[in-house]
Amino acid sequence: MSKIDPSPAQAVAGATAVAENAFARLPLSASMQSNLQQLGYLAMTPIQAASLPLALAGRDLIAQAKTGSGKTAAFALPLLHNLNPRRFAVQALVLCPTRELADQVTQEIRRLARAEDNIKTLTLCGGVPLRNQLTSLAHGAHIVVGTPGRILDHLSRQSLALDALNTLVLDEADRMLDMGFADDIAQVAQACPTTRQTLLFSATYPEGISKLAARFLRNPQEVKLTERHAATKIRQRFYEVKDTERLHAVSQLLNHFRPVSTLAFCNTKLRCRELVAVLQAQGFAALELHGDLDQRERDQVLVQFANRSCSVLVATDVAARGLDIAQLEAVINVDITPDPEVHIHRVGRTGRADGEGWAFSLASMDEMGSVGRIDAMQGSESPWHPLSELSDADNTDPLQPPMVTLQIVGGRKEKIRPGDVLGALTKDLGFAGSQIGKINVNEFSTYVAVERSVADAVLRGLNAGKVKGKSVKVRRL
Ligand code: ADP
Ligand code: MG
Repeated sequence: MSKIDPSPAQAVAGATAVAENAFARLPLSASMQSNLQQLGYLAMTPIQAASLPLALAGRDLIAQAKTGSGKTAAFALPLLHNLNPRRFAVQALVLCPTRELADQVTQEIRRLARAEDNIKTLTLCGGVPLRNQLTSLAHGAHIVVGTPGRILDHLSRQSLALDALNTLVLDEADRMLDMGFADDIAQVAQACPTTRQTLLFSATYPEGISKLAARFLRNPQEVKLTERHAATKIRQRFYEVKDTERLHAVSQLLNHFRPVSTLAFCNTKLRCRELVAVLQAQGFAALELHGDLDQRERDQVLVQFANRSCSVLVATDVAARGLDIAQLEAVINVDITPDPEVHIHRVGRTGRADGEGWAFSLASMDEMGSVGRIDAMQGSESPWHPLSELSDADNTDPLQPPMVTLQIVGGRKEKIRPGDVLGALTKDLGFAGSQIGKINVNEFSTYVAVERSVADAVLRGLNAGKVKGKSVKVRRL
């Protein structure tokens, strides 16, 4: 939670003393220090403070901290530190479980790499044609971020050489294990020079991690942060439900507390499917994130949730792993997870920006054993509230998200940039910038979030007008 707020200690210390968690304590170049300032990284997060001094000193690391704690910079800064930009060879490789996580990591590395000129970072993941990747590789890259399978493909085609590699990173190692990548990872590691530095990052610490680490880390330091969240910032409430009431209780919570963005966790895919069906039937903007979505569908779901045009994202723990979503007002545990660590992890997803958030849990009699384990782990008793205190759904307007997503056919392939869309909406059509939310340009589509009240007008305007001098097709998602 401390990632946004500089600690009060640092604010008071000002220029006279360097606070313990200040980046200025690290042996980083002056340009990197000022880049961090520009990014608003005023103080290290706890996992960064614990791991950066060791990693920058060249140690192998096993680092564990929850999602959203700033792990990316904790490995990106050391790999950039090890890098020689004048040497045109792949010097760092980051393995990630999915394309979407690889994209997030690439973005963060690029922002951090801005301190130096001309550092090239390339993403290599499955699900996209090899041809473009081969061309990009031929142009050279300093840093590669990718999924284990696709990296192996390139190694076997000899389109990727790792002999100049000095940093190997395994990000979301627990998830890669879940997905059965252990052997692929070991094979990739074998293709790296033995003198490299290896950094392993993970949100949880299942048994398999130490086994994996033992295979190819050298005398690693362990950095574990199973921090408890500040109880005052996250308000937890438990409701006892009968199984027959559970799905309806979710809509009661939504209508009563009216959070803009809610992540609803279910223990099974079946429960996810049931819940989304019920919520949608009641008029909620609810979407499900699950493994059977193809990449385009998945992108659409995430874009809509992040741009505040979807009120509820329903997911299992596996599907929700690693998503970097800020501004979650609420988390709902539709089922109680049998693993108390998972509960703490779920609850920690809420209230990440201003630190405030709701965590609601629905528990049936059968789940009281799990609630007991959660209480034991949290060191406090769960606060129970009766369902009857929630306002009657029939008496309130149905909860609606503030924004609506419009999909424009055409994206990076057509060289559309966010500015083109913004220009068409504000200059050509006269809408106010404040009525327009996030603009996401994907390969073949562009998504723009607009305020609900102007959505129809924007849709008509864009369909009749032009973007980048061309007529476009637009539809409401
Ligand atoms: P994790 O990998 O642990 O889930 P991320 O690396 O994705 O977490 O970081 C979560 C968010 O915190 C990102 O938006 C990132 O830009 C931001 N962040 C990371 N480090 C800092 C910092 N020191 N100060 C402020 N924000 C930070
Ligand atoms: Mg991460």
